[in-house]
Amino acid sequence: MALRTIRIQGDRVLEKVSRPVEKMTPKLEQLIDDMFDTMYEGMGVGLAAPQVGILKRIVVIDVGEEPIVLINPKILETDGEQTGDEGCLSLPGKAGTVTRPNYVKVEAQDENLDTFVLEGTELLARAICHECDHLDGILYTSHVQGELHDTNYEEEEEEE
Ligand code: ZN
Repeated sequence: MALRTIRIQGDRVLEKVSRPVEKMTPKLEQLIDDMFDTMYEGMGVGLAAPQVGILKRIVVIDVGEEPIVLINPKILETDGEQTGDEGCLSLPGKAGTVTRPNYVKVEAQDENLDTFVLEGTELLARAICHECDHLDGILYTSHVQGELHDTNYEEEEEEE
């Protein structure tokens, strides 16, 4: 298990556009493994390569069903709307209200660079949108309605 350092908001790498993956290499396979380890360690449901400082169009997601790797993802279709709290491993301890599509159809490549199509609803649709945004240098804060809040606010209140 190898953990990578998660880049935190303010790091310019998070604002850059990532480059497509053209060839799978052992280095990129290791990166994907490390991204899963880093995501699970951070209790996240998704992580994009720029969040660990690599400007490649690679995303890992696990909303509790199965681990998903999306390489060079392209959102083909969206439908509906969901509004809820969203957080990001690059903004630890924070969350904000974001409206996203409730359904997303995405085309991507797997670790063999074979193309596939994935459909997701609810949390998976939200995660796909959030992670694909990272590949274009966009953080969820640019979609937030109102203010960000602390995710451990209630716990702190109880201790008082
Ligand atoms: Zn994020």
